[in-house]
Amino acid sequence: MSRTIIVSNRLPTKAHRTEGGLDFTPSEGGLATGLGSIYRADGNIWIGWPGLVVEEPAEQQHVIDQLQADSMRPVFLTETEIRDFYEGFSNETLWPTFHYFSQYAVFDQQQWEAYVAVNEKFCEAVLQEAGPEDTIWVHDYQLLLLPEMVRKARPDSSIGFFLHIPFPSHEIIRAMPWREQLLKGMLGADLIGFHTYGYMRHFLSAVSQLLGYSSQNGMIEAGTRSVLVDAFPMGIDYDKYAELAASQAAIQSEQTYREALGNVRVILSIDRLDYTKGIAQRLLAYELMLQRYPEWREQVTLFMLVVPSRDQVEKYKELKEEIDELVGRITSTYRTLSWNPVQYFYRSFPIEDLAGLYRLAEVALVTPMRDGMNLVAKEFVACKGDRPGVLILSERAGAARELSDAIIINPSDMPQVAEAMHEALIMPEQEQRQRMASMQALVQQYNVHHWVQLFMDRLTYSKIKQQTLA
Ligand code: UDP
Repeated sequence: MSRTIIVSNRLPTKAHRTEGGLDFTPSEGGLATGLGSIYRADGNIWIGWPGLVVEEPAEQQHVIDQLQADSMRPVFLTETEIRDFYEGFSNETLWPTFHYFSQYAVFDQQQWEAYVAVNEKFCEAVLQEAGPEDTIWVHDYQLLLLPEMVRKARPDSSIGFFLHIPFPSHEIIRAMPWREQLLKGMLGADLIGFHTYGYMRHFLSAVSQLLGYSSQNGMIEAGTRSVLVDAFPMGIDYDKYAELAASQAAIQSEQTYREALGNVRVILSIDRLDYTKGIAQRLLAYELMLQRYPEWREQVTLFMLVVPSRDQVEKYKELKEEIDELVGRITSTYRTLSWNPVQYFYRSFPIEDLAGLYRLAEVALVTPMRDGMNLVAKEFVACKGDRPGVLILSERAGAARELSDAIIINPSDMPQVAEAMHEALIMPEQEQRQRMASMQALVQQYNVHHWVQLFMDRLTYSKIKQQTLA
């Protein structure tokens, strides 16, 4: 039977070291929450790093056994690999470059070599697990070289690749050393998927400008092979979120927050700590809103949840300090004895609490500088049920291509974001309901199951098309 082997840097489960030994919990992040509910079907397996350095053979075996029971296969990375491959090349070279933060990008030969070596390590794991009939689905920017590596070892494999972050203009890609290797690495796949047509077009022009490959109807002539590219905006498990939001746990959680906060309007912001998410700019816009509209003081609170992420990387440490300072300044300037302008949490929350917060919030403020998709925006919509609520969404999030009934803003335009908050807070309830219902219809239809199905169908199509072209 043909199975799907999902490969991503992180597994949907992460291991922790506790006093009592190893503990296993679900991972955060869009990919883990998105695909987590479906990969277990049909004997599929997921290959990836379990989020912890495990060197001792007996302990490695324990991790293997634990994960195997849940259809996962770990790839163990050493301390040095984490530093150079993960924190280094993936998060200090590719991440900033692909999100248009080129000024943050580090180009380091040693980190590049670690990136190549770890992609090879993943390739070995794939070759051990995958049979000739299996479909291999590689995810994201940490594994750009993997499709070509697997292709070399198994020329007839069916390989899909999906990029979960933006693909930038070819002018940005052009500035990178190793650009040809990275593009060729991706082109080892039979199908390359992006969240939006914009990212796909950027990829096609990069391939054309830098490798001289032409394309027609999304089919690239890559030397002796043809490779299909297409846009597949990733959805969420809509029913799961809708049910969760209607659960007793979520209702209880909403009530707890409501009682603690009192009778204020809630503007919700949820992100991983990341400079691409525009968290500092969002705080400045909120401060401006409080300055321009003093009537909202004591009437509204910004409930801001920042999930710790990559805190070993220097730029992330700096960002954390900047956010702490801004929150401190806004709080000390505006707070009263009975009111806090910002409720700031630097930790991750259980999913029932997130659903409770999505229920509670009158406004969700999603203002990334760049974001491949942004699932938080879609989760908010799915959790709102038949209640009103307003989404403010950055035009630079992939989700903005679909959620056109949000208030769409330019995240660099602080006055515009401040006005959008005011507009959201005074929007008539009927308009809120209309906009929310139309976004819900879309998020419900283009859910994560639909996304997987569409991607798999296109992969099959790409294989058939290759045969007719051959
Ligand atoms: N999330 C989580 N725990 C938290 C806060 C958020 O698991 O405490 C989840 C959130 O529900 C969403 C994901 O993290 O599914 C973030 O995905 P998104 O696409 O918005 O951003 P990414 O982190 O992938 O850049």
